[in-house]
Amino acid sequence: MMEPIDRRKFLKTNALIGAGAVAGLSSFTPWIHGSSDVSKPALLGGTPIRTTPWPKWPQWDKDRDEELVLKVLRSGVWSRDKVVQEFEAKWAETLGAKRCLTVVNGTNALIAALVQSKIGGGDEVIVSSYTFIATIVAILQTGAMPVFVDSDPDTFQLDATKIEEKVTPRTRAILPVHILGLPADMGKIMDIAQRHDLVVIEDACQAWLAEWNHKKAGTIGHAGCFSFQNSKNLPMGEGGAIVSDDDDFMDRCFSYHSYGFPYGNIGVTNVSAVLAGTKLRLSEYQAAIGLTLLPRLDGETLLRSQNAAYLRGKIEGIPGISPYVLYPEVTRASFHLFPFRYHREAFHGMSREVFLKALQAEGIPCSSGYVPLNDKLYLKDAFESKNYQKMYEAKELDFEAFIAKNQCPETDLLCQQTGVWIFQSLLLGSRQDMDDIANAIQKIQANSAALARHQV
Ligand SMILES: *Cc1c(COP(=O)(O)O)cnc(C)c1O
Repeated sequence: MMEPIDRRKFLKTNALIGAGAVAGLSSFTPWIHGSSDVSKPALLGGTPIRTTPWPKWPQWDKDRDEELVLKVLRSGVWSRDKVVQEFEAKWAETLGAKRCLTVVNGTNALIAALVQSKIGGGDEVIVSSYTFIATIVAILQTGAMPVFVDSDPDTFQLDATKIEEKVTPRTRAILPVHILGLPADMGKIMDIAQRHDLVVIEDACQAWLAEWNHKKAGTIGHAGCFSFQNSKNLPMGEGGAIVSDDDDFMDRCFSYHSYGFPYGNIGVTNVSAVLAGTKLRLSEYQAAIGLTLLPRLDGETLLRSQNAAYLRGKIEGIPGISPYVLYPEVTRASFHLFPFRYHREAFHGMSREVFLKALQAEGIPCSSGYVPLNDKLYLKDAFESKNYQKMYEAKELDFEAFIAKNQCPETDLLCQQTGVWIFQSLLLGSRQDMDDIANAIQKIQANSAALARHQV
């Protein structure tokens, strides 16, 4: 008699062969309803679709990748110097931007770009509501007031048709986020900015090499900000960058990031600090990691795009699954995440939480994504700070009134009910890996009645 584990393997193998033979397809669906362990959801005790590991992140090869980092370490020159400058030159060139300045992280890239665009207390900044908290944190650090715009649920980006109604005499900037690495609707955004004389600072912290009409994300507005944090597609542990074609602005950003000391055309003849600056300098070994990984970014971005398109095609026909949509002008996306919407009505009412658990049980790492940011306590804390109390009238700092004014129902739906993410590192796998993801979703769909009953 076979051991239980062998028996499971045996059944799995035969179910796979059987399904392939019956369907006569090259990329068959390895589940047959009720025929074996493979068809039973892993969450209910069946065999997971996927048991082998996924590509790890970050990817670092001891033999191939350590040379430059070791050289920097052994040189003893660890503060900003030639390696940082080389990374900046390469990143600017890669994007087609005139200038690049690295900083400690993406959050501070945004803060520096906002401050040096002269945005501060009393100003309003129109911003994406479906984003990482760092975007909003950056606005609050300048003393400006974030004004949240609802999302376009198909693309997961800010709904550019809802920007203009938010413009007031105090609006100074639009801060669009290319969230998940899928470009925001930059045509409409730049048009609105021009008509209302607004600065556009792109949060491209997830959009390395993404493109709008063949122009790189981060190079379309007045400035673009990037992150090189560990989880990002171009990681160096921590790190960030500002890119712009505006020399005066970039000189001011440089000065600001180094105590306000003179730089470029900013206070050349002065012997001490000329701007109210801070200290945001990147270190040499971080830049060495970036320089080592940068040559791979293009190929990896292409692979993610191809796998995303393939996976999208495989899941778009599954009832209750709506994969991301790209705007027609998008010539490339960077897919920091692969998003789709989950509609429980098509899954016998099974909650998104059970769907995610079921998908994870099948061996597919996934997430529900962001939470709404327009009603959380960090805003109240900012409003209660000394600076905000001095800069704004009491009625402008009424937290309940702020929440009422900044409602974003589409973003709430994405956050609380429909949004599902697959992580970027999975998109570096093979076509069969993508089949595993699609097959797992399909298996859950086929078993949704039983899984919905499992829901407590
Ligand atoms: C990561 C990220 C940031 C902040 O970057 P850090 O380097 O982590 O400070 C800002 N905006 C978005 C959309 C991000 O994903």
